[in-house]
Amino acid sequence: MVSRGTTQQSSAPFNRRIVLDVIRRQGRISRREIVELVSLSPQTVANITNDLEAIGLIVARRLKGAKLRGQPPIAFELNPNAGHSIGISLEPGHVKAGLVNLVGEILERRGVDVDTHDQRRTLAVMAGLIGELRKRAGKSGRLWGVGVALPGPLIKTDISFVGPTVLEGWSDVSVLDELRDATRLQVFYSVDSAAAALGETLFGVARSLDGFFYMHFGLGLGGTLVINRAAYRGANGNATEIGHIPAVPGGKACYCGNTGCLERYLSLQSLAEALAVSELPDRDARIVAALERNDDPRLEVWCAQAADRLRDAVCVIENILDPVTIVIGGSAPRLLVERLVAQAQPLHHSVRGGVAAPATRILLSDRQEDSSIVGAAVLPIYDLLSPRFEVLQQERRADADVAGLLGQRGAARAGRL
Ligand SMILES: [Zn+2]
Repeated sequence: MVSRGTTQQSSAPFNRRIVLDVIRRQGRISRREIVELVSLSPQTVANITNDLEAIGLIVARRLKGAKLRGQPPIAFELNPNAGHSIGISLEPGHVKAGLVNLVGEILERRGVDVDTHDQRRTLAVMAGLIGELRKRAGKSGRLWGVGVALPGPLIKTDISFVGPTVLEGWSDVSVLDELRDATRLQVFYSVDSAAAALGETLFGVARSLDGFFYMHFGLGLGGTLVINRAAYRGANGNATEIGHIPAVPGGKACYCGNTGCLERYLSLQSLAEALAVSELPDRDARIVAALERNDDPRLEVWCAQAADRLRDAVCVIENILDPVTIVIGGSAPRLLVERLVAQAQPLHHSVRGGVAAPATRILLSDRQEDSSIVGAAVLPIYDLLSPRFEVLQQERRADADVAGLLGQRGAARAGRL
C-alpha cells in the first residue's frame, strides 16, 4: 500500500517522507507517477523532489528511449551514494560487518572469529571493524551510523543468555553504548530477527509489503512480526521468539530448561550437532560441504525431521497471525533453506490455505547469509527512508488537535463578537 500525502500546511515533513518512500519502493519513478500515487499536487511534488535532490538523497535520470515532445522524461531514484551505514551482526563466536549504501548494497564486508564470551575483546574487535569500514567509506559521503544485530531473546528472561545460540554473558547489551564513545557515531542495536525483518522491508523481498512474518533461521531460530512496517516486539521486546515453542512432546532437551523446543530441530546449531561439526571455526564451511556432497545419511534424517517441524511451524504462525506471507532469512545457507521448504510441501491446511497461493505462503530472502548485516545497517536509516505510520499518525493527530483547538478558539471569538 502506498501512503497518500496530505495538503495540510504543517505536513511538509510527512509529505517528503511519503515521496521518498514511494521512490524507494518503486526503484525508479517519474514525477507524474509520483503525483498519481501519493495524491499531491504536481507543484508540491516538484517542490519536494527539488528539495530531496538538492540535499542529495535522490538523483534524477533522463530516461532513454522514445523522446516525447517537449522535455525528455525524467525519473527519480534513491541516490546510492547519499551516505553509508555500517551493519554488524554478532553471533556466538563470530562478528560480521558490512558497509552498506543507501540502496542496501553491501560495498565491503568483514568477518572475524572472536570469543564472544569476552565482551571487552568483542567490543574491541567491533570498534576495529568499524574503523576499517569507515576508512573504506572515506570521502564518499556521509556515514549515517552503526547498527548492531544480536541473537534474541535480548531482554532478560529465564530463557535469555544461556546456550550455544545466544550470547552467553551478554545480559547487559547496553555495553554496546560504549561503541558510541569509541567511534563518535550513532549506534543502534536490535534483536537480529527484528533488524533483518526491517532490512527485508526496506530493501528485500518484502519491500512492497506493509506486514508479514519473518523467520530468522540462523544458529538459533527467531522470528519477528512486521505490522505497518514496524517490528512488533511485545511486552518486553521478546515477541515471536519462536525457537522455544514446544514442538515435540518429550523431545530433545533444550538449554532453556524445557524439552522439545522448535529450535532443537530447526536451526544451524541443531544441524551442526547432528553432523558432529559444532566446533568453530569451520562449522559453517563443513555444513555447506555436507549439503553440497549430500551423501551423509545423518543429513537426510535431520532434514526430514526439520522439514516436519517447519511445516508445523508455518501452520502455527499462519493460524495465530494470518500473515500475508512468511519470509525466511538468516545465516542458514540458501541451499539448506530451499531444501527444507521443498521437503515441507505440501504445507498443512491453515487459515492461509486456499486464500494465499501455495507459492506465496513462504518467500525466501534473497539476502540469506547477508540478511543480518543488511538488517543491522538499516537500523540507523530506517526512519529516514520509511515513514513509520504510528509515529506519523501521532504527528498528524497532533496536527489535527492543534487545528481543532484553533477552530474552537475561532468559534469562541466569533461568539464574543
Ligand atoms: Zn528451549
